[in-house]
Amino acid sequence: MRIINQTVIKSGCYPFKLPLPLDVGEVWKPHPIFQGSTATLNYLSCHASTLAPGFSPHAPHEHSDEEILIVLSGEIDIILKDHHASAQPGFYRKRLQKYDFVFYPANFAHSLETISEPPANYLMFRWRGLSSFRNAMLDFRLFNALPARDETGVDQRLSMQLMFEEPTRYLGKLHCHATSLASGSGYEPHVDPYDVAILLLEGEVRTLGQIIKAPGVIFYEAGKPHGISNPADCTAKYLVFEFHRHSAEQLQKSSGFKRDGMIKPSFIMLDASSACQLKCPSCPTGQGMTLKTLGAKFLKFTDFKKLIDANPWIKTIELSNWGEILLNPEITAILEYGFKKNVALQANCGVNLNTASSDVLEALVKYQLRSMTVALDGASNETYKIYRVGGDFERVIAHIRTINAFKQRYKTDLPKLTWQFIAFGHNEHETEKAKNMAAELKMDFRVKLSFGDLYTGKTFSPVRNRDLIRRESGIDCADRQEYFEKHGAHYLQKVSCGQLWDPPQIHADGRLLGCSINYKLDYGNVFEDGLLECLNNEKINYARQMLMGLKPPREDIPCSTCFFYQTKRSYVDYDSISHVHDILADREAQIAAIYSSTSWRMTRPLRFAGDKVKKYMHLMPIPARRLSGRKEPQQVSAENDIGQLTHLGQAISAREAQIAAIYHSTSWRVTRPLRFAGGKVKIFKHLLPIPAQRLARQIYKLFLYRKST
Ligand code: SF4
Repeated sequence: MRIINQTVIKSGCYPFKLPLPLDVGEVWKPHPIFQGSTATLNYLSCHASTLAPGFSPHAPHEHSDEEILIVLSGEIDIILKDHHASAQPGFYRKRLQKYDFVFYPANFAHSLETISEPPANYLMFRWRGLSSFRNAMLDFRLFNALPARDETGVDQRLSMQLMFEEPTRYLGKLHCHATSLASGSGYEPHVDPYDVAILLLEGEVRTLGQIIKAPGVIFYEAGKPHGISNPADCTAKYLVFEFHRHSAEQLQKSSGFKRDGMIKPSFIMLDASSACQLKCPSCPTGQGMTLKTLGAKFLKFTDFKKLIDANPWIKTIELSNWGEILLNPEITAILEYGFKKNVALQANCGVNLNTASSDVLEALVKYQLRSMTVALDGASNETYKIYRVGGDFERVIAHIRTINAFKQRYKTDLPKLTWQFIAFGHNEHETEKAKNMAAELKMDFRVKLSFGDLYTGKTFSPVRNRDLIRRESGIDCADRQEYFEKHGAHYLQKVSCGQLWDPPQIHADGRLLGCSINYKLDYGNVFEDGLLECLNNEKINYARQMLMGLKPPREDIPCSTCFFYQTKRSYVDYDSISHVHDILADREAQIAAIYSSTSWRMTRPLRFAGDKVKKYMHLMPIPARRLSGRKEPQQVSAENDIGQLTHLGQAISAREAQIAAIYHSTSWRVTRPLRFAGGKVKIFKHLLPIPAQRLARQIYKLFLYRKST
């Protein structure tokens, strides 16, 4: 798991000797090489291990990190889950020999066992970063580093063979190639905008001011200069791994969060009550924690009416969050008006249903509340009242029966009822009974993980039968901690933070709270300042940018002190994403935007990039025709704050050349860009985002064609 303030890994050489020692009585010994965060990854570690014959370092396990395992000596069996087996997945084995290596994606069950007589030695890279999902990502795969040991390649002085290059969950691109470097050859220092790890298999190399002999690991930090040469008589052979971070565009796309543009949701959360009659031990309302900031308030019918009249695009409203909505004295009028205006009302965050008159229960049916979740954490009064302090199980069941009777009378299925069973140690034995009762009451049934220590700092009645709750929760997790460990994010975090966009949470008195977790600060009052004004003001837009890692925390933003944001921030380590890399990522957005435009004079780029294009216009070399005469990459001005970083500055300048080339083309199909870009496009093609890469390939092909004719 990510540790706050961990070491930043610096460029360095790490030689080691084989076979790695195993102390008397030991069967497995890891030898740490490096560990920490990088500009690309929030966590990266490398270790070599020795494993005695017939032993495994651990039972098959899965974790949310990605890994590469390379066999250095001996033979091992990797033990993998058979995902294709039917009901009960089993495990199968694959034999790996010296220099075989595998990639394990996140959450992929695996273990290993030494098969050879001498202990096996292997090396592992393990990492985690900002995650982003795509349709095609690198899956578990087995490779062999043989090409690095063969005299392959056209240029025998420096031959490189691509092993793979694909996106992963944490990387825009994981690239691997095998290199043979002949005696006396090498290349000059240069800068890569990604981290590079090299496993030296044979021979020796000079790099970072020292000579390192095989076996050894070399790490190059993103943005730091490095070159390599072979000072020895024999050929050096090594495997290169490049860790390319996701582009800002890709991260934004997969976050599902909208970066620019007006927020105008048709679905909002408008709390009908922040008062509750129960005293549940893990609930901030039940424990009086929300009283000071939110108070015990009810949504007024007049405010509700005004809001939906003024914002006719609102189609759905969630009424429950902090309190018991059925205590609201005007709930019937609210339900009736929503029904009349054809706005779908729901209470899916939950009601305790302990207090409700027959009229209110009838109104739920008559005015077609769409759905309602009933919090029932037990199947008997004795169990139920342990957590629902002050509640009465029998009364709740009686109210459900009354609703069902009204549903029959009105011949309707609405509201759809769900029995929500929060799993605790004291009630888990009643899960099955509760499920059966729910079926009998025509309710859906859902096991939810408890708040744990989220609000109160202490966990009430932790689950004991973890396997049962893993199964029943349907997410293979028994509590929030386990969920965090498996997914690298908090349970329901994405849903909660996503509410800052859609559906936003509004308090009963009109204060825009943003999400259903925040109860401390607000973003204005929608009843007083208008819904769209509040949803699009500077403060909430800043909070959205913060959640995307684009802005630092700010005191007046509720997220700054939120447990979700703080752990996400330490876990994702926004700070380690250096300023320069952010600029590079921003340029990728520009390239993609301009690339999407067939004519820059039209407004199309602005549609894709919004203010970004305007904002960075001064950075674009205009006119690009001047570029053709330039021998040196264009200098980046010191005002950009990156003037000192010459090498990265050059990388950025190279991008500017691309931007200019693409920008200058009224249609990428014509050859005009070639006049300006030519070989430059090829050299820096790997820096481009994927769609632009395709463009670059086309440009380069046309460039060659023009040259030859
Ligand atoms: S970080 Fe916390 S306060 Fe901010 S949106 Fe997410 S859950 Fe709400």
